[in-house]
Amino acid sequence: MKIKSFADFKINKKILHAVVDMGFEAPSPIQSMTIPLLLSGKDVIGQAQTGTGKTAAFGIPIVEKITSRELQALIITPTRELAIQIAEEIKNIGKYKRINVLPIYGGQPIERQIRGIKRGIQVIVGTPGRILDHLQRKTLNLNKINIVVLDEADEMLDMGFIEDIENILSYAPQTRQTILFSATMPPELLALAKKYMNNPEYISVIKEQITVPTIEQYYFESKEKNKVEDLCQVIDMAQPEKALIFCRTKKRVDSLVENLRIRGYIADGLHGGLTQRQREKVMQNFRKGNIELLVATDVAARGLDIDQLSHVINFDIPQDPESYVHRIGRTGRAGRSGVAYTFITPEEYKHLRAIEKVIKQRVNRKNIPTVMETLENKKSYLYKRLLKLLEQEDNNKQVLDLLNELSGHYSYQKIALAALRLCFGDDNQESSNNGLSSDSNKKSDMVRLFLNIGKVNKIGPGDIARSIAEGASIPENAIGSIDIFDRFSFVEVPANLSEKVFQLMQGINLKGKILNIEPAKNRK
Ligand code: ADP
Ligand code: MG
Repeated sequence: MKIKSFADFKINKKILHAVVDMGFEAPSPIQSMTIPLLLSGKDVIGQAQTGTGKTAAFGIPIVEKITSRELQALIITPTRELAIQIAEEIKNIGKYKRINVLPIYGGQPIERQIRGIKRGIQVIVGTPGRILDHLQRKTLNLNKINIVVLDEADEMLDMGFIEDIENILSYAPQTRQTILFSATMPPELLALAKKYMNNPEYISVIKEQITVPTIEQYYFESKEKNKVEDLCQVIDMAQPEKALIFCRTKKRVDSLVENLRIRGYIADGLHGGLTQRQREKVMQNFRKGNIELLVATDVAARGLDIDQLSHVINFDIPQDPESYVHRIGRTGRAGRSGVAYTFITPEEYKHLRAIEKVIKQRVNRKNIPTVMETLENKKSYLYKRLLKLLEQEDNNKQVLDLLNELSGHYSYQKIALAALRLCFGDDNQESSNNGLSSDSNKKSDMVRLFLNIGKVNKIGPGDIARSIAEGASIPENAIGSIDIFDRFSFVEVPANLSEKVFQLMQGINLKGKILNIEPAKNRK
């Protein structure tokens, strides 16, 4: 029979009811194919890409098969976050059956877990190290275990947990049902399955194309030294509600978080170097929307299910195609559409091509948005965030002290303007006469020119003034105000000399950049 609805499974009404409450309308393909086999007691190897509902695929049969108050099911999973997430999902599935589920993982005081286990837990979800720890202390007994699940098995393999897993399995009864779920199926996993599973059925819903087609994928080319600035441009342009940004290492996570915060973004990091408490707090804040940008390593983000992730950004291109698929699978989950951006340095083209080959899709190029393109967006982004703050009661003592201090010397309007400029990253310009303010203070005998070079070209006002004075042979003191932005600058020159500047300066090489000069557009 072809399974089209959860009601087609031979499961308890209480579970059906709970699944409806969870908002599931129909089983996903991996669920349709594995749940009947699992209910019949068979060992199953299930392969499906990330975000396809593998948790419920084993969670529903586990809850269905629970018959007593004893510990009957053990789920082994690579990370603490996953353990918590899976425990939550099983709790939800079992809510009308009142199933007791406990996540156990390193970093949490073991005594608390021991007390938890003693309370009559029916399902344990844990990380390999901590499970083994309990087994060796004899604070966990697997004698009555009927079901063991190895979830995200490929990841556990990569993390070097195989020995621990084999060790754990030796504590569980031979008669158990063993279930293995994974997004990829390297040979080592198949070998493990052969050794520890009983005539398993292999179910794969991986198609020749392994990415979710609803994810739009683009890449940006950016030199390593420009990456942070370029990322900010992209963020300002895309205005993600919630974005997950991947970095190669813990260190890069920390440094990117800091760089983003300096620039006024609400960002936090997630990686293996944090304590469990810190990680939980970060995740909670991200879920609640208190953090807009979550910067993470692959391991820390593995399997996290975060609602409404609008963007996944690979600040660093992933090491291999599989992890690319895993990463971008974080967005566009359960049919929602999402966008994935990947930054590559010029040397990483080959890497990107290799990924495209595996996913059998083209990842299209996008150009880093210009400051002009993002300025408007940045304004509305800032506006949105200011509104949010304005709605809140302000009780930050440092800020209040600063305000009191400043208001003794300046008007509130002046203070507000300065603070806004700071938010805009516009604090190191001499004049506020940039693309945002009106041009009312422009002298009428001067014209404003747009130059395609800026801070990223390591150019300062002195350089510009000097080059123009020399290049167009006009006196340096005839040059008016100069505003330098990251990627472009404005310079005022006397109207009667502007033609000369154009003719003599257009197309010259300045600091390694071919100069383009245009009359500045009058922006309102
Ligand atoms: P995987 O383990 O395959 O990466 P998850 O089990 O974490 O995926 O599921 C991803 C998301 O999809 C979760 O939020 C889960 O609650 C949801 N989900 C699972 N099954 C269904 C379903 N049949 N219909 C709708 N949403 C589902
Ligand atoms: Mg999973």
